[in-house]
Amino acid sequence: MTLPHNRANPCSPPQELLFVEHIDPAVIYRFDTRSSRPCEFCRELDPQFPQRRPLDQMVASSRKAIASAHLTEDGYVRHRMLELRRITSPAPLTAA
Ligand SMILES: [Zn+2]
Repeated sequence: MTLPHNRANPCSPPQELLFVEHIDPAVIYRFDTRSSRPCEFCRELDPQFPQRRPLDQMVASSRKAIASAHLTEDGYVRHRMLELRRITSPAPLTAA
């Protein structure tokens, strides 16, 4: 009696390598990220700035740090909200 030793071993490739980032690379390549920079205005005023997606932080480097210079709609909206918040609270909080 011989044992069946020659069973095919199912060898699956490591699937984890496919899940690297949430960000769709196709979106990034639509913009030239080398001609963009983080928005100074948002970086100063938005405590959530580091949690934004990278593209939502960026403005076109040829533009001033204004809302419409943002590369994404979400970045634009967040910039506008910061502007409005500053307008509606004219007395800035002094650093504690
Ligand atoms: Zn901004």
